[in-house]
Amino acid sequence: MSDSNRYTPDPAQMALWPDASGNDINGLNETEFRRPNHVYWGNPDVITFGEVQKWFYTKNNTPELEAGRIARRKVEQIPLAPIASTPVEKSAQDWTDAIKAEATRLGAEDVGVAVMDPDWVYEGWDVPFTSILVMAIAMDYDEMTAAPEPSAGVEVVRQYTRGMDLSKQLASWLRDQGHDAQPEHGPFADGMTMTPPAIAAGLGELGKHGSIINCKLGSCFRLAGVLTNLPLIPDAPDVFGAEDFCATCQVCSKNCPPDAIMLEKQIVRGHRKFYVDFDKCLPFFNEHAGCAICITVCPFSRPGIGDNLIAKLARRASA
Ligand code: SF4
Ligand code: SF4
Repeated sequence: MSDSNRYTPDPAQMALWPDASGNDINGLNETEFRRPNHVYWGNPDVITFGEVQKWFYTKNNTPELEAGRIARRKVEQIPLAPIASTPVEKSAQDWTDAIKAEATRLGAEDVGVAVMDPDWVYEGWDVPFTSILVMAIAMDYDEMTAAPEPSAGVEVVRQYTRGMDLSKQLASWLRDQGHDAQPEHGPFADGMTMTPPAIAAGLGELGKHGSIINCKLGSCFRLAGVLTNLPLIPDAPDVFGAEDFCATCQVCSKNCPPDAIMLEKQIVRGHRKFYVDFDKCLPFFNEHAGCAICITVCPFSRPGIGDNLIAKLARRASA
């Protein structure tokens, strides 16, 4: 077990802490299913942790991080293409092949498709689309090994911005062909949580550290997507043994300074799954530009090591 005494939250941040638990908002220990609530990276005037979220930006404001945010705002301001009046017609298979090829051409390192499930949509929101294409946007592993230094946060901002750019370009590509489409990208994903659709779309398994483990990128990536009403053909989840591997690995939990990574699966809104203690993680995350230690130390994220692990798991599965 890690030494939880090695980190003491900054009192300035804790003075802004709401009289609430993020774990309660997330539905930890709730046995009945309900839709998720928006707990973080939302409108700070609406979400419970809004004052703490504002503090993040006062704490993490190196010139490099600020430059990254300026670049992100420029991409945010690019308008989507209007929806062309004459829709291009193709079969579901042809559209699926075409949109995946376009996402790959634009630079996504992995792509998958899922049928939209209303269970992924935040309570009080509506996402009126039937399909989602999810993209994995790789982060540079060497840059991320600096985590939790701000330079790793700069790489996270850079890749979120690339994901936003790709998702907007892809949405415009569909709109140019006469089909409504909406970009979805972090960190401020509108209306829905991106992890469940990414798992459904075959981008990987949920790791003990609460992030997806992808068979090519480990956990060294961010998510972006595009919502559409085209009848795309969904992918199947990619179960390659990562979750089983987590059962006996504790690399992330031992390296988490606030000891936030729970060793056993928890019941969260009716589902049993790996879970990170939000109330323990967030203070450290906020003080360290988004932290990212857990996803960087995960052996699946290490180039060379992750590939070998996956080959070993595949051999074990076929033995
Ligand atoms: S982001 Fe940092 S603080 Fe949060 S769970 Fe991962 S290692 Fe722990
Ligand atoms: S570090 Fe180990 S336990 Fe944690 S997510 Fe990665 S494989 Fe799973």
